Amino acid sequence: MEEPRPTLAQLKEQPHHSYTALNSYINICQLLYYYRYIEKAEAERTPVALPFGTAFHSVLSEQAQAAKTGNLLTADEMTEAFATYFQANCKDAANIVFKRDENIEDQIATAKRMFEAVNREWIDYWNIQSVAEPFKVEMPGLSKPIIGELDMVVSEQTPFDDEKTGPLDTVVDFKTAARMWSDDKAAKDLQATVFSYAFEKVHGRSPSFRFDVVTKAKAPTVKRFHTSRDDGHYRRLEKLLATADKGIQAGVFLPNETSFACSDCPYADRCSSWHRDASRTASIPADASSQPDATNQPDTNHPEKDKEAA
Ligand code: SF4
Repeated sequence: MEEPRPTLAQLKEQPHHSYTALNSYINICQLLYYYRYIEKAEAERTPVALPFGTAFHSVLSEQAQAAKTGNLLTADEMTEAFATYFQANCKDAANIVFKRDENIEDQIATAKRMFEAVNREWIDYWNIQSVAEPFKVEMPGLSKPIIGELDMVVSEQTPFDDEKTGPLDTVVDFKTAARMWSDDKAAKDLQATVFSYAFEKVHGRSPSFRFDVVTKAKAPTVKRFHTSRDDGHYRRLEKLLATADKGIQAGVFLPNETSFACSDCPYADRCSSWHRDASRTASIPADASSQPDATNQPDTNHPEKDKEAA
């Protein structure tokens, strides 16, 4: 009998990298990475977009599970589930910060409009192969494996598609965004490369990738963005991540003061005095690189991603 796959929570117990953490190091801010993933410092502030995104993502995962069995939760049912997750997440978050004129009720009403838009556009039922599929893959040059979770894997071939033109496996990732993505964003997205690489390593088949993006707006819209990766992307990814890993091991954690993440940074106060305390980021504490790190939450669970989404 096939061994049950470890859950994401079990995978997180061992030392690992995650897409979100590596993306933070490579594309957002190395110093932010240091505070969050090496020091694991408590956030000075948590933008409300963080618990919002986490709760929204949890409900979409429930919707995908329901759709897999031919059902669909109503927007009201989704909103009720969202409110429970959201309020619990807000309670757990350190120093939660709302924008001016925002409150919990407004956020729940926004989520409801977004769920209505999601349901109007929902297309996957019988073709859903897996939901919240955890993975762990090794990569040349990395000191730790990469772990993560694929939101949903679907087949985009229909049984009526005689010519079998659609891709067999499509990895789907749910995203919230303040405004709709540009058409070229998916082609450059690091997550699509990491998750396609992981899928191919685990399943031995090359997938296509789809982002399902819903805007957090008064009149939310949903759009699907398709992209794909090949061996050239994978070799470049291996070099990129191995180089980032070396930088982390060497204790290179520079602030990126032009990062979009600065305005909502959970460590802005500490960062402002970083130059007076630079020795703290000149090297990794002796045991830090061998510690399990809690780096793989759904990406809507991270302020830097939520900044993108807010
Ligand atoms: S304030 Fe900006 S530069 Fe400083 S840690 Fe945060 S994101 Fe990095």
